[in-house]
Amino acid sequence: MNAANATAARVDPAVVVAIDGPAASGKSTVSREVARALNWTYVDSGALYRGIAWKALRAGVKPRDAEAVKALLARSRWEFPRRGLAVAFTVDGEDPGEAIRSPDVAESVSDIAALPVVRAFVGEQLRAMRRYAPLVMEGRDIGTVVFPDAEFKFYLDADPEERARRRARDLEAQAGAADVAAVRASLERRDRKDSTRREAPLRAAPDARIMDTTGMSVGEVVARIVAVVRAGVGAA
Ligand code: C5P
Repeated sequence: MNAANATAARVDPAVVVAIDGPAASGKSTVSREVARALNWTYVDSGALYRGIAWKALRAGVKPRDAEAVKALLARSRWEFPRRGLAVAFTVDGEDPGEAIRSPDVAESVSDIAALPVVRAFVGEQLRAMRRYAPLVMEGRDIGTVVFPDAEFKFYLDADPEERARRRARDLEAQAGAADVAAVRASLERRDRKDSTRREAPLRAAPDARIMDTTGMSVGEVVARIVAVVRAGVGAA
């Protein structure tokens, strides 16, 4: 048994690490690495919102049309297979893969994620994933709404310019070129919608540990979170 398994064997099986924060705050890379270090299950809740936006765009459904989105959710079949440590999803048997990272999806996802019917659907799916706990789940409202009882809550933030540079770097790696100013404008639009929506707005839970990751490497952020979780789990 390696050290990670030894940690997993000792912990309360229902333990949840919630990692929230704005777009491109480094949450995805950090959360995946934290899950790997602990050998726990990783869930990217934003991927599911993006998946719904992707499905709606393909079906010609407008992201703000609550009734049409509701009908789309009712007629589509969602499954959540495990892939290694991560929980993936398919819709009507299809895995959209990297298509959920396209600029079109990025532009419509915050509108779709603001719909109460979508939040209820995704919230229910995410809570059911506790069966795969211990979990590391990232998003916008994991520590506030989805798992307000999560044992560990982190809120990652970084300066907007640095977030735009990080996201542009990711996009460049995928597509070859990215305009940092355009990326920054798109992130700001999304953050504004995510923070000002009526239901489950982006904000840190009162009991979250807030980390400004500007100037920190992924390794430093991961090490800090893993140390807090290991210490907390050991103390439990
Ligand atoms: O994390 P990511 O940037 O992929 O999330 C895409 C979008 O999904 C966010 O901008 C937000 O509108 C929505 N989202 C959300 N609640 C979450 C996770 C994501 O509303 N827990």
